[in-house]
Amino acid sequence: MRPPRVHLVHGPTPIMHLPVLDQLIGAEVWVKRDDATAGAESGNKIRKLEFLLADAMAREARMVVTCGGLQSNHARATALACARLGMRSTLLLRVPDPARARAAPLELAGNVLLDRLAGAEIVFISPDEYRERGAMLEQARADAEYRGLPAYVVPEGGSNGLGSLGYVEAMREVRQQLDLGLAAGPRFDVVAHACGSGGTAAGVGLGAARYDVAREAWAFAVCDDSAYFKKTIARIAIEARGHDPSLPEVAFVEPGSGESVAPDRAARIIVDDRAKGPAYAVMSDEQKRFLVRVARATGLVLDPVYTGKALFGVAQAVARGEIRAGARVLFLHTGGLPGLLAQGDELRALLDR
Ligand SMILES: *Cc1c(COP(=O)(O)O)cnc(C)c1O
Repeated sequence: MRPPRVHLVHGPTPIMHLPVLDQLIGAEVWVKRDDATAGAESGNKIRKLEFLLADAMAREARMVVTCGGLQSNHARATALACARLGMRSTLLLRVPDPARARAAPLELAGNVLLDRLAGAEIVFISPDEYRERGAMLEQARADAEYRGLPAYVVPEGGSNGLGSLGYVEAMREVRQQLDLGLAAGPRFDVVAHACGSGGTAAGVGLGAARYDVAREAWAFAVCDDSAYFKKTIARIAIEARGHDPSLPEVAFVEPGSGESVAPDRAARIIVDDRAKGPAYAVMSDEQKRFLVRVARATGLVLDPVYTGKALFGVAQAVARGEIRAGARVLFLHTGGLPGLLAQGDELRALLDR
């Protein structure tokens, strides 16, 4: 049985080719505009929420509980989508010092402004508590039920097997766009994107193999490391096959390792953690300059947490010869604009010139 789905994404999202970007990167880069899946709730998360919130509604939830960093795009998308669908939301947001955050007035910028606008209840949690986020989410669910609100837990990033089906469907959408001739070729060599909780990577890997969209899927980690994400993506892919047994196996391959290593028809996934920069949500100076250069040369606005690092990673992989010069790359622009708008001060020095 196909899992139920609610309609949140204005699709198909466009695929764009910007010749100036090809020169900056050294490959033939096509950009799938998943930063434009919708309005303020836009980005990759609502593809997963189409399945997750349909499940919440099927279970008659009145409250949805989820978690993320303070400027979480996922939390914001969940809060807005819940408001649309008539459910309440509770967001467990990670901050360095929850007691201090509770004492000071909340700085209403970027995603947090939209969270509050959507009426979400915000609970600050510490980095230590965040490591136990499964238990924290379960506690918040129990608290809501105690208040008489049947509650549904959406995991970090919406990244479980059910959520990842949103990106299997996105790859089906790309297959249709290729068949219509919208990307000047039968398939891509590589599909590349940022990876923060693994659900997009699992869905893209599985969907790209299933629909013959690209030979390899590159997931650029923006936190944790390759070992963590291989484990996480493998687990999510197994869950996804529980919902859809026809999905392929996953094989993790190393950058530039050629065709031979993976079994036929398996989803070939590369996890690359070399572009994650100094810290989560912090860019190196080189990455900042890259983000500014791309915006000024093409009008394409990347974000400092995810897409700026991932496209920088693509450029590095081409420079190293791990992605062949001139290869056809589909870059998934997964969103994140509100996070950029909350980081103006980090870019000031580069923009004053
Ligand atoms: C969440 C997010 C990602 C990463 O997706 P995951 O499925 O969490 O790995 C990439 N880009 C943006 C803008 C995001 O908000």
